[in-house]
Amino acid sequence: MKLVFLGAPGVGKGTAARYLEEKYNVKQISTGDLIREEIAKQTTLGKEIEGIVKKGNLVSDEIVAKLVEGFVKKHNSFVLDGFPRTIKQAELLEEIEKNTGKKIDAVLYFTAPEQTIIERLTNRRVCPKCGRIYNLKTMPPKNDELCDYDNEKLIQRPDDREEVVKERLRVYAKKTAPLVDYYKKKGLLIEVDFSGNVEENYAELEKALKKAGLL
Ligand code: AMP
Repeated sequence: MKLVFLGAPGVGKGTAARYLEEKYNVKQISTGDLIREEIAKQTTLGKEIEGIVKKGNLVSDEIVAKLVEGFVKKHNSFVLDGFPRTIKQAELLEEIEKNTGKKIDAVLYFTAPEQTIIERLTNRRVCPKCGRIYNLKTMPPKNDELCDYDNEKLIQRPDDREEVVKERLRVYAKKTAPLVDYYKKKGLLIEVDFSGNVEENYAELEKALKKAGLL
């Protein structure tokens, strides 16, 4: 299956993508992870985009599309997590589809109330080594703030601090939310209620994929 995951930051796209990867071997690409890697490595690109990400703004459409195209070329079953994030990126994705001959089957649109999203983001911790995502309240690691899989000390993403979270949600509402209508009109949008606990959310995800004939 070839999927796009759409939804506000913190709604659970990354967790859902990892679940599909671990259970069904659907490869996930998170443009946020790729961007953070460039920044951590302090590549020329990483240095250029560091300030943008710190403030909660978006990196240029063309840069992100290039990172995605390389990935799409290599895989036949995948989730794009965090791309497209603007109408322009959706158009660039259509070019990628043409260039690679691979078509997106569905766009899953994850929803949850804003207060739930803010709580998820501010309680989110990630493993700097494997990228697994935890939540201090709802999905805590077994040992105090250490990754269950490789025992690394978990970190809070700098852009998960409350001030930046608010800016990211503003940017989402302005630039990304219009994609909901865009994909609805194309008949690709499937809404997934992600307001519940982790188990309920996974069940909603699988229900949606079954209904679409993708599982
Ligand atoms: P995420 O991990 O998806 O929340 O992304 C973290 C940050 O990376 C975002 O706030 C943006 O600064 C940047 N980013 C991730 N994906 C994109 C994208 N598709 N377009 C532009 N910027 C992105």
